[in-house]
Amino acid sequence: MDCLFCKIIAGEIPSGKVYEDEYVYAFRDIAPQTPTHILVVPKTHIASADEVDGANSIFVAKIFEAIPKIAAEAGLVGGYRVITNCGPDACQSVKHLHFHVMGGRQLPENMG
Ligand code: AMP
Repeated sequence: MDCLFCKIIAGEIPSGKVYEDEYVYAFRDIAPQTPTHILVVPKTHIASADEVDGANSIFVAKIFEAIPKIAAEAGLVGGYRVITNCGPDACQSVKHLHFHVMGGRQLPENMG
């Protein structure tokens, strides 16, 4: 499968890894939009939030267990934002489910 994030998880494309466990891989976004901008992805191919179901939701649960650890390790003591873009109206550019963990400064209240 020709998926950028599957290749990153497999180590075929380099990444700035910040966390990994059995279910979850996290790495620094290549074009950060905030001082800290980390992508947290499942270590199985799920195309988007639209594809989450009872068979793969364990990966999403594990992602949300990992996010507080990732945020703490990144020093996001003041809080952070978690975003997933799903589909063309949300400008999803990589078709592998990912959660943007963004922080390191005061974020705007408006999200869209
Ligand atoms: P989205 O637009 O929600 O699909 O987000 C995709 C994100 O992947 C963007 O924030 C990109 O900057 C990021 N990105 C694309 N290629 C890479 C890469 N090779 N390493 C790290 N982040 C990437």
